[in-house]
Amino acid sequence: MKIAIIGAGLAGLACAIECERLGIIPDVFERDESVGWPWPCTVHWLNVLQRQMGDIRESLREKYRLDLKPINELRTLKMKSPNKETSIEGKLGNIMTRGKHRESVENQLFTLLKKTPVYFNRAADYKELSKKYDYVVVATGKDTAAKEMGLWIDYGVVHLRGGLVFGTFESTSSTVYFNTRYAGQGYARLAPWSSTQAIIGLCNIGCSEYEMDRLYTNFLEEENLAHLEFYYKFSLPIFSTGRVSNFKSGNVLLVGRSAGLTERLLGTGAVEALISGILAARAMIQDLDYESLVRPLQKHVENISAIRAPYENLDNEGLDRLVAMINTPGIKQAIYNTGINFIDMAGGILNKIKS
Ligand SMILES: Cc1cc2nc3c(=O)[nH]c(=O)nc-3n(C[C@H](O)[C@H](O)[C@H](O)COP(=O)(O)OP(=O)(O)OC[C@H]3O[C@@H](n4cnc5c(N)ncnc54)[C@H](O)[C@@H]3O)c2cc1C
Repeated sequence: MKIAIIGAGLAGLACAIECERLGIIPDVFERDESVGWPWPCTVHWLNVLQRQMGDIRESLREKYRLDLKPINELRTLKMKSPNKETSIEGKLGNIMTRGKHRESVENQLFTLLKKTPVYFNRAADYKELSKKYDYVVVATGKDTAAKEMGLWIDYGVVHLRGGLVFGTFESTSSTVYFNTRYAGQGYARLAPWSSTQAIIGLCNIGCSEYEMDRLYTNFLEEENLAHLEFYYKFSLPIFSTGRVSNFKSGNVLLVGRSAGLTERLLGTGAVEALISGILAARAMIQDLDYESLVRPLQKHVENISAIRAPYENLDNEGLDRLVAMINTPGIKQAIYNTGINFIDMAGGILNKIKS
């Protein structure tokens, strides 16, 4: 069986690893010169968003044989609205790194490949490859293929700006900022890389591209971050979000963000990318139905969106009330430090009501 995988990101590499383990050596095409995003980044794997898995890392290890190491545990999550602040403590999840860095998730995955050739500097086209291979897996982190195949349902765009800064930080503590003045319906975050470096990011929903410079400056000034020394700055291309109506068309399978498996606020999507890549490999090689294997991932992402939807309409006063409410001891404890999978419970109900 001949399998081509386009994109050596999380979904593509996880797919290649599983193909190897099932006895098929795929060809991987990556447009960049090496694995990992060109910009350094820390991302969160938040337990509260993945309760259906139990412990995320343990579940990836046991169910999917992926043992991925974080740079730190996430033990404190601070949430700030314009006039309120709350802090949640506990075993909240893990801080992972992305990019060219040796410890990035992409590089950890890459070292697990034994025989698979990865053709770097090769931007591949799924239409061409689908004529030469039995299966083509689109793992480009882009919506282009799904759009061309008429499978993409658009949810709108996200603007991203940020960088790596020097300073003094608690390496297990992240801060999330909610403020419509600079983030619109999105948010900003400061996530540590170490005790001396952190990633700052503004994820704006609702603004136009031209406003982004001004909003980013507002964010840094309003949150007293403008004095920090930047080691690296990034301004990412407009990030579209959406869902797909089908995950497969002919011999082409969509995985990860190319399959719309990233939530609009970008707080989740990495784990879904890994799992969808693995499920695609199993479907192709073991002749399983990819659509039914991958649907629960899409449902979970949609449940997160459903929970978040009421928040999208809040003004700054409403955000203050929300943060004050989360600060209520019983609520805070119930959301973050129990094993209850309230996302799929409440999100599932909200989605049923909607439909
Ligand atoms: C700034 C930011 C912060 C995020 N934070 C979080 C977080 O905290 N938690 C979380 O769970 N998720 C987070 N996400 C979402 C998560 O990172 C994505 O869901 C995940 O990276 C999707 O993986 P992927 O493999 O589909 O795509 P990617 O990881 O983007 O990989 C795509 C790969 O395909 C390559 N490629 C593209 N086009 C071609 C082509 N034509 N030919 C060959 N190669 C190609 C690219 O170079 C890249 O290597 C964040 C995303 C962003 C942008």
